[in-house]
Amino acid sequence: MPEKSKNKTKEKVTKKTLFFMLRTARKEKPMLFLLYGFLFLADIMEKVQVILLPKFLLDELVAVQRGEALQDHIRRLIGYVILYMGLAIACSVMRNIANNKKDVQAEWFNEFFETELADKALRMDFEHTEDPKVLEQLNKAKEGISWYSGGVVGILDTFYRILINIVILAGVLAIILVTCPLLIPIQLSVLCFITYWNAKRNKVEVENFLKLAKSNRIFFYVLYQLPNFQYGKEIRLYDSADMMGERAKDMSYEQLNIWKDSERRKRKESHKMDVINSFRDGISYFYIGYLALKKKITLGEFSMCVESASSLYWSLNGIVSGWQDVTKRCNYASQFLKFLEYSDTMPKGNQAVKKQPHTIEFVHVGFRYPRTQRFVLRDINLTIQPGEHLSIVGLNGAGKTTLIKLLCRLYDVTEGRILIDGVDIREYAEDEYRKLFAVVFQDFQLFAFSLRENVSLSGKADDEEIRDIFKLTGFYEDSNKLENGLDTMLYKSFDEHGTELSGGQQQKTAIGRALYRHAPIIILDEPTAALDPVAEYDIYRQFHTLVGGKTAIYISHRLSSCKFCDHIAVFAEDTIKEYGTHDELVGIPDGIYAGMFATQAQYYVDNAG
Ligand code: ADP
Repeated sequence: MPEKSKNKTKEKVTKKTLFFMLRTARKEKPMLFLLYGFLFLADIMEKVQVILLPKFLLDELVAVQRGEALQDHIRRLIGYVILYMGLAIACSVMRNIANNKKDVQAEWFNEFFETELADKALRMDFEHTEDPKVLEQLNKAKEGISWYSGGVVGILDTFYRILINIVILAGVLAIILVTCPLLIPIQLSVLCFITYWNAKRNKVEVENFLKLAKSNRIFFYVLYQLPNFQYGKEIRLYDSADMMGERAKDMSYEQLNIWKDSERRKRKESHKMDVINSFRDGISYFYIGYLALKKKITLGEFSMCVESASSLYWSLNGIVSGWQDVTKRCNYASQFLKFLEYSDTMPKGNQAVKKQPHTIEFVHVGFRYPRTQRFVLRDINLTIQPGEHLSIVGLNGAGKTTLIKLLCRLYDVTEGRILIDGVDIREYAEDEYRKLFAVVFQDFQLFAFSLRENVSLSGKADDEEIRDIFKLTGFYEDSNKLENGLDTMLYKSFDEHGTELSGGQQQKTAIGRALYRHAPIIILDEPTAALDPVAEYDIYRQFHTLVGGKTAIYISHRLSSCKFCDHIAVFAEDTIKEYGTHDELVGIPDGIYAGMFATQAQYYVDNAG
């Protein structure tokens, strides 16, 4: 992009982010503006104290030195000294109080933004959670609102700096125009150079930020996510700590090099700025000293000019560098807005789900995963009647789980339609639609919360009901043996007395969670794969009874678990190849199901023998 349009985009981003921050502050913490008001008063009082008061003091002293009677000046002299001290104390007290209170607000805002970010990340379309671009943007957003931008308070601070410096500039310009006007071109010309070099420095910083985003994500994954309990076994048993360590080391070298390079480039600009600043001071003093020697200004005015010259420069600098700074900070923080604006691509319907037994229909459904070319499901036609128990079987990778993900609307179909009660599922309101399903996936997740929370997944829970459900899933006895009962924390992430459930207990907890949800459609996607066939058969048979008249879909490798289902759909080559009851399917000569069943039956015979 050409430099000019790049700058225009930056300006637009800055304005948008700045207004967003101002609006958020006004809505969430209007008190902040009162605090900035106090700071404003303190800053103006300080300028009066350091620029104007010394002039009056010096002029009084010089008059006395020149031989005028002390008693004519003493009251004013004492008055100025008291005023000087009073202003100094008042400024520092007001500034301390305002800054202290602002720090607390800053903390509050940090949490506010982090919560917003987490909320968006937890609710965005599921497919975004697999998109590396979105994940990288999430990382940039996190960093963009952290110390890089200084958060909302950092941005408001910089904006305030611009405003206060405009007011100060107006004041000192008036003084300088009257007493030493040549100072203006001197300061302005130096400022041009400084602005140019400062812009170069800021550019280096922003480039650095963007370069670091990716390596930071890998670095944090290795350092913070992998030491998590859930990865612990694989890492130890496969002795992969060294590999992980190497990965982290590589990333930290990469980061170090990025930092080194950016510091080197920034240092060059800083040196140039230091040198030209010294020139500016020298020439300004020379000019003001010349005016004093020529008696064009008094000694008091000399002091006022010196202070004004420095204030003129620093306020101009404050405005320009403040704008550069606010641009830089807003560009970091804009990553946060960019993430919040990630639009969910799945259409959101608003139709209510009718309270009636539900019929599910897949009509010519085809699907390929986002960002891939290959269709993993093609021309799926399937009807599941209310209360029907359907078993889905097929080899690994046949598309069974994908079908469930489509039904639950984790993804939308690429072709065809899925209907519930004759209505395309895209037309239903998402919240209501999701309540139709209780799903236990093969890779179900338990959280590092209490056992109760893991089942209820909500703030409110009915302990009696959870216990009843555990009786049904066969986890009651075991759960009673846990020292803290339903309060037992899973994993040791947050509680040293936390427990790790056995594979079977975890599955029973996950199945309990599904039953607790009271959803009309229950889906088990091989959560029992880790169990032996007999245990799995028991769970499925028991579950079959538990589910009763509700619609149920079971995915299993073990065909013995399908026998009691009303229908069986056999998935192969990305589509449904066979469909019928167990008896019908075993009767198909050279049928896929019949073949699989015979092989598995053989396995049990061999193992029994
Ligand atoms: P099954 O449940 O029958 O074992 P899946 O539905 O999990 O099969 O997978 C079907 C195909 O889709 C496989 O080839 C798998 O590699 C691919 N697949 C699964 N999940 C994803 C994903 N998130 N992104 C891309 N491809 C995927």
